[in-house]
Amino acid sequence: MKPTHIEHIGIAVKNLEDAIVYYESILGTKCYAIEEVKDQKVKTAFFKLGDTKIELLESTEADGPIGKFIEKRGEGIHHIAFAVKNLEERLKEAEEKGIRLIDQKPRKGAEGLDIAFLHPKSTHGVLTELCEDKNQE
Ligand code: ZN
Repeated sequence: MKPTHIEHIGIAVKNLEDAIVYYESILGTKCYAIEEVKDQKVKTAFFKLGDTKIELLESTEADGPIGKFIEKRGEGIHHIAFAVKNLEERLKEAEEKGIRLIDQKPRKGAEGLDIAFLHPKSTHGVLTELCEDKNQE
C-alpha cells in the first residue's frame, strides 16, 4: 500500500476535555481542532506532532463505535491511520490481497480527509485506517 507516513493515531477517551488537558501537557502543544463527526458519533480533538497527528475520540452516544469500544476494552489506542495516495486504488489492492475491508469505498472523515477502514481480523488486530488528503494535491 506504500503509505507515505502515519497520518494519525486514534485514541478512544472517556472525556475529551480531560484528555486534552493531559495531551497538551505531555506534548507541549495546543489542541488545534475539535470537530464532531456525526456519522461516527464522535467528537475528535487533534494535536500535531511532526507529520503525525494524535486524534482523541470521545463518543457522543453510548451505542457509537467508540462508545462500544470503551465499554468492551476501556480507553486506549483505537486505530492507526496511514496516509496513502489514490485511496480507491489502494482499497482495491488490499481486497485483492485478501484483506477484509470495513469500507468498500472511501468516505469523509474528520478534517475533510477521504478515509476507509480495514478490518482488524485481517491486520493482526489493529484497526487500520487509510486516508487521503485531496486538499493537499
Ligand atoms: Zn482516524
